[in-house]
Amino acid sequence: MPSTFTYTFDTPLYKGKSTFNTGLFINGEFVDPVDGAKIEVVNPSTGKVITSVSAGSAKDVDIAVKAAKQAYKTSWGLKVPGTDRGRMLSKLADLIEKNADEFAALEALNVGKPFGVARMADVASTIGTIRYYAGWADKIQGKVIETNDEKLSYTRHEPYGVVGQIVPWNYPLSMISWKIGPALATGNVIVLKPSELTPLTALKLAGLCNEAGFPSGVINIVNGYGHTVGQAISEHPIIEKIAFTGSTATGRKIQVASAMSNLKTVTLELGGKSPNIIFDDADLEQAVKWATRSIFGNMGQNCNAGSRIFVQEGIYDKFLSMITDAARSLQSATGDPFEPSTKHGPQVSQTQFDRVMGYIDSAKTDGANVHIGGSRHGSEGYFVQPTIVTECTPDMKIVQEEVFGPVAAVIKFKTEEEVIEMANNTVYGLSSAVFTENSSRAVRVAHALEAGQAFVNCLNWVEKNMPFGGYKQSGIGRELGEYAIDMYTQVKAVHINVGLKI
Ligand code: NAP
Ligand code: MG
Repeated sequence: MPSTFTYTFDTPLYKGKSTFNTGLFINGEFVDPVDGAKIEVVNPSTGKVITSVSAGSAKDVDIAVKAAKQAYKTSWGLKVPGTDRGRMLSKLADLIEKNADEFAALEALNVGKPFGVARMADVASTIGTIRYYAGWADKIQGKVIETNDEKLSYTRHEPYGVVGQIVPWNYPLSMISWKIGPALATGNVIVLKPSELTPLTALKLAGLCNEAGFPSGVINIVNGYGHTVGQAISEHPIIEKIAFTGSTATGRKIQVASAMSNLKTVTLELGGKSPNIIFDDADLEQAVKWATRSIFGNMGQNCNAGSRIFVQEGIYDKFLSMITDAARSLQSATGDPFEPSTKHGPQVSQTQFDRVMGYIDSAKTDGANVHIGGSRHGSEGYFVQPTIVTECTPDMKIVQEEVFGPVAAVIKFKTEEEVIEMANNTVYGLSSAVFTENSSRAVRVAHALEAGQAFVNCLNWVEKNMPFGGYKQSGIGRELGEYAIDMYTQVKAVHINVGLKI
């Protein structure tokens, strides 16, 4: 029998107990994995083990997929009126809201996010996203298409059946809401894998699914490693669609596995190296604030991070001095996510810490200048100082590759034409931003940038009802909004002969 784990929080910002089961959630109950394996879960602020959770294998994925398929046949899909599916999603959102502080505390503990940010951003947006999709569940419809008098022709937007979903560690809970919201609203059943690093909020959520009213097997959560559970989901012949958020390298593997198994429909939300362009005529104070939030928020572990900051020459020195001050003040607000003064926490893992430090080293070796930061903060945990790198050239790794840490490359430019060229010189195309008070330029540049998101005088301000996704190697398909509904349905054209005799 899988065990229940209780963690006691006794911190300045949150006092309370969190209880959740550490097993795999399959067919409406927590179970042990077939092979009995476990994964240790680490607190990134201290490097110490919090607990261990069950780790599944391909065998557990197969059990979960079969349970999901059975649930799809008997108690889910379009058989269940959209109003009822929506009601369960709403109930799930209510239950998360009831336990919002506990969810935020788990996210702060397991990911290292400042508690207040976890509560006001991650958990609040999760609740909002699930409620939003609850509202969609009874509004999914095809069209009647006029063809001729002897025929009734219409389309139906049908679910795929079993969908596989693989989520990363940077926004563990809210990425689950982006995935399960549209999937369940449209009548699909789910086998979901959280990141091996951050399974705690997923387990807490799994424990609420029955109370929300979902029939057994509709939502299955299988913790485990990417190369085992993730790979098994990508290859499973019964899974008809897969949605993934994570690195471009893993996205590529998933597409290959899907192609080689049963040609699953694949949606991918991958990395980025997003340009943030600041013109001489920008509201400088605002530009600095948005730029700071975008690259250092969530410790830079953000696919949307504005990691290449292009600054026009007339304001370059002033901008650099202001963002340096902002980085310095974040340095002095770095520490325990449960301290009220903390604004900057650790990287999620030793691996990510090493990766980020490796990129800082590469910048130095390539001849860039580490203007501020660049070092470890403190002696335990995985803290990296907010870092600004200058004097970069376009071919440097620090300019081309996704660091996924609190490291900004600040680059000087002269003209609009030149900066558009530099901004688009990347294999990625997730987000982009332009700061200017000139409205024609704002629109012109926003349209010229090769990215799924173009922000003007803001950055990283995502909305649950706007589509989100990437151009180029930043992804395939869109999440959020009505666009995600399309990603979880397939269109059937129905042709009914009402009179033609041959
Ligand atoms: P990753 O390997 O792509 O991890 C994302 C998810 O994919 C995790 O659940 C992971 O499981 C799973 N996975 C790994 N290998 C898989 C496979 N062969 N088949 C199916 N699923 C698999 O990313 P990472 O290694 O954690 O981070 C590396 C880099 O990826 C970061 O530095 C960053 O550049 C990028 N990244 C981007 C995002 C984003 O929001 N777009 C999020 C996270 C990371 P395990 O955790 O169990 O390995
Ligand atoms: Mg990984």
